[in-house]
Amino acid sequence: MLMGGRIRLWMIAASSVGLVALGAVSWLSYRSTQELIAANQRLVQAHKLIEDLTALHVLLDDAESNCRGYALSGKADYLRPYDDALAQLDVTMQVLRHDLAPDRDRSRQVQELEPVIQARLDVMKELVQARTEGGFDAAVRIVRSDRGKRLSDEIRQQIAVVQNEERNDLLDRERESRERARSTILAVGLTCLLGIALLLAASIVIYRLNRQSEKDHVALQNAERIQRTILNSAAYSMISTDTAGVIQTVNAAAEKWLQYKGAELIGSNVSSVHDTSELQSRGEQLTRAMGMPVPGDYQALVTKARYGVADEFECSYVRKDGTRFPVLLAVTALGGGGNDLAGYLMISADLSEQHAMRKMKDEFVSIVSHELRTPLTSIKGALGLLARGVTGALPPKAGEMAHIALTNADRLSRLVDDILDLQRIESGRIAMDKRTCDIAHLMKQSVESVHLVAEGEGITIAISHCQASIKADRERMVQAFVNLLGNAIKFSRRGNGIEFAAERSGSSVIFRVRDEGRGIPKDKLERIFERFEQVDASDAREKGGTGLGLAICRSIVEQHGGRVWAESELGRGSTFYVQLPLAEAEAVAAN
Ligand code: ADP
Repeated sequence: MLMGGRIRLWMIAASSVGLVALGAVSWLSYRSTQELIAANQRLVQAHKLIEDLTALHVLLDDAESNCRGYALSGKADYLRPYDDALAQLDVTMQVLRHDLAPDRDRSRQVQELEPVIQARLDVMKELVQARTEGGFDAAVRIVRSDRGKRLSDEIRQQIAVVQNEERNDLLDRERESRERARSTILAVGLTCLLGIALLLAASIVIYRLNRQSEKDHVALQNAERIQRTILNSAAYSMISTDTAGVIQTVNAAAEKWLQYKGAELIGSNVSSVHDTSELQSRGEQLTRAMGMPVPGDYQALVTKARYGVADEFECSYVRKDGTRFPVLLAVTALGGGGNDLAGYLMISADLSEQHAMRKMKDEFVSIVSHELRTPLTSIKGALGLLARGVTGALPPKAGEMAHIALTNADRLSRLVDDILDLQRIESGRIAMDKRTCDIAHLMKQSVESVHLVAEGEGITIAISHCQASIKADRERMVQAFVNLLGNAIKFSRRGNGIEFAAERSGSSVIFRVRDEGRGIPKDKLERIFERFEQVDASDAREKGGTGLGLAICRSIVEQHGGRVWAESELGRGSTFYVQLPLAEAEAVAAN
């Protein structure tokens, strides 16, 4: 896995754990804070209760002293503060009742206190009334009864009990509140620490990710630069297109060879740098070979590659000024096949020099062959006369020599004929006299030409064919088949059989020459169609071949718009195929 990917995975895992931990600690600190607030509230309530009880006590004392003052002096001045104290007492009692409602025990204690206070207030009222109505003596009697003092003592006692209990509670609550405060501080502190740690971790990860992506970016830029340099320094033209053949990129060689600026080529269809008629005929050829319609546009270049077949062929590139030059073009599909297809890469090598060389060589060979032909004919004639003893009987040794010389002169003359033949066919100097030919007739004629040799070798030829006709130069076609049959005989063993068959395939007919001979190695199957290519260097000597037969055969077949190829299994035999278009009327019927 890439570095960035690993870091990202770690980051997701760490942030999930961190978030869960942060959530837990935050919840803890929320709980602690809530509890701290509640504990503080309870503290405040306790303080307030103690204060309210003290106020109650003070108000009672106040009312009592003013009541006594009135009783002793009879002055009405004492009655106002007495009444005020009573009013405030009432309010204080209400507040106490309200505040203590949630606390059952304290509520009960205050409720128990209330009748005693009421009784004390009643005694005060009685004293005031007695002084007002009965004078000093009546008041003294009430004071002497000591009822007021007993009630006051009882009230003081009860208030003291409640206050003491509340003070004890207060101490407990203060301790509890301190503990809560400590755990709250701890929880909040932990939350902050965890938060800081998470922030730190996130910053480190982001920093590392940034550094990694910067590195990746630089590496990508370098790779692109290297790639561009390689492409531009290549001695091949490289053009990439999308799936519709629209040019996407071109390298320096393509710009130079085609004399366009890259920007002029990008966006145009690749067919614009090809020869239209070449595309047309390649389209037709592929249509026949693949049994499906292949349009004569960019598709003639890419169809094979699209189906995953390696495609390499010779064609022409057209420069900006309209001139053309030959190239060997290799087309590769980019991306996977089918839906993943991203486009095509077209790599081509300039064949101008090779073609010029080949032309020179051909011309040279042609001239030499022409020059050889006339003296060879007279050498062959003279040797023939000598060998046959027309010029007089030769001693046995000399006769043998004359025979060897004649055989080799024949070989040389065949070679010269083949060279000149190939030269003429390839250059188009021999016009193909194409007429409608019945294939059965063509095949029969071809077999007749070789049947004596086959018989001599003890080899049988089995013919099977369909009803069909082709447009062909009969003589040349027979020449091509005779060459294939001749090879099959040459490379078979005595007693082997040869099959010569023809079958329709769409709008074409496929001929097959199958033998049971020595076979051809896989890597030679293509090469044997080149001039002077033989599987074994001794073939020319032992089998009397020139290495030109298959090249001539291919030229003839291609001049008829067909193709020839071979399949073989070493030691078990070879099959040569010739595919040719059916005569027009039959092709129409076939479609
Ligand atoms: P040649 O005159 O040497 O036969 P060709 O061009 O006809 O020239 O054939 C080229 C070479 O291909 C042969 O020399 C031989 O090595 C190989 N070859 C052709 N046909 C066969 C075959 N039927 N079986 C085995 N090898 C073959």
